[in-house]
Amino acid sequence: MVGRGNALTDLIQFLFDFAFAQGLGIAQISKDEEYRSLADKTRNLIIINTNWKNKAELPFIIGHEIGHLMEGDVGLSYYCGNALTSKERHADLYSLNLIFDYAAR
Ligand SMILES: [Zn+2]
Repeated sequence: MVGRGNALTDLIQFLFDFAFAQGLGIAQISKDEEYRSLADKTRNLIIINTNWKNKAELPFIIGHEIGHLMEGDVGLSYYCGNALTSKERHADLYSLNLIFDYAAR
């Protein structure tokens, strides 16, 4: 995309800015590529493994973890990539809506 820099980086920055505006914290860690990102409600913090095996999936994961905190899901919520419970589906939808907001600006 000419003149817009890296689209993925751009989208991640948009998501981080949104999280900060909501008073959420973000920790970026580099673990092995199977280590799952998570949301920690007690600390209002999302913890993102930037070394995740599928880099293109990272914005969706970030939006998903933001969704857990915004929906008030308690405890630790690890990303699993297939929404088996209604909490996971809601976090997925939250992420899709955020990415739509970015795309439709
Ligand atoms: Zn989840």
